[in-house]
Amino acid sequence: MANAVLTLPITKINEMKTHYQRYLKPSPPAGALFAAKGPTYSITAYKSGKVLFQGQTGEQEAARWGDAEQKTKKVSSPSNKSLPQNISQMSIIGTDEVGTGDYFGPITVVAAYVSNDQLQLLKELGVKDSKHLNDETIVKIAKDLIHTISYSLLTLPNEKYNAKQQQGWTQGKIKAVLHNQAILHLRKKIAPVTPECVLIDQFAEEKVYYRHISGEKAIYRENVYFSTKAEGIHLAVAAASIIARYAFIKAMDQLSEEAGFTLPKGAGAKVDQAAARLIRSKGESSLEHFTKRHFANTQKAMKLV
Ligand code: MG
Repeated sequence: MANAVLTLPITKINEMKTHYQRYLKPSPPAGALFAAKGPTYSITAYKSGKVLFQGQTGEQEAARWGDAEQKTKKVSSPSNKSLPQNISQMSIIGTDEVGTGDYFGPITVVAAYVSNDQLQLLKELGVKDSKHLNDETIVKIAKDLIHTISYSLLTLPNEKYNAKQQQGWTQGKIKAVLHNQAILHLRKKIAPVTPECVLIDQFAEEKVYYRHISGEKAIYRENVYFSTKAEGIHLAVAAASIIARYAFIKAMDQLSEEAGFTLPKGAGAKVDQAAARLIRSKGESSLEHFTKRHFANTQKAMKLV
């Protein structure tokens, strides 16, 4: 995985802009003519004529438009140690979480172990970046996946989430503690097999991550790597993400049944209305069970009631 830089005439850049129309970012960075974010690459074209290609297939994408003048290895932010070059083919533990931006429902964190010889099978099962998959497909793939690979799933009910939040824990700390626990559980489960490394879908810088879990009894730190968009780097992270979303969907179905109506995902206006309905039918105290109470949705729902 590498970055590539091309220097191109403006006419060519305009042609590119049209080509990547559906992926254009609404507000490109200062000095940029456009920025596009495709499924496995991102592109930034600057007024100087320089065009930067990044991501998993950035280099291939650049090759469509010209010969790269320079290549630099870079897959994660400079504060992290750089990933092993062949990581996508390694036997590794990947971790990811779901539910952190949703007012209703728990946080689910999954660590998944995928060995090199399982990669092909996972591809055949349809495992890929879950951002490109709808709930129905997620459920279908997850049902196969949970019988195919070793994983550890942690679900944090909102009662516990709210208690930790009240104690002053940030969401970053809650996530870090859960990721660390999930890795430790899974490591035990697959022993004596040792993963070649662990890849965490990055939500905090490495330093911050370890600071968050410094109070934990056991800390897993052997060959741990961090990267944003790690789902696109190794299928273990994509698999973790799919199982975490599956668990989240099931938990939401369960909570909706308890509520007596479908609880929406996310934290938008529909969520405010659903929370208001819940307060009317079950009382404000029920939010402790159904929601991440400190979200602004609570106040908005109270106003509606
Ligand atoms: Mg993630």
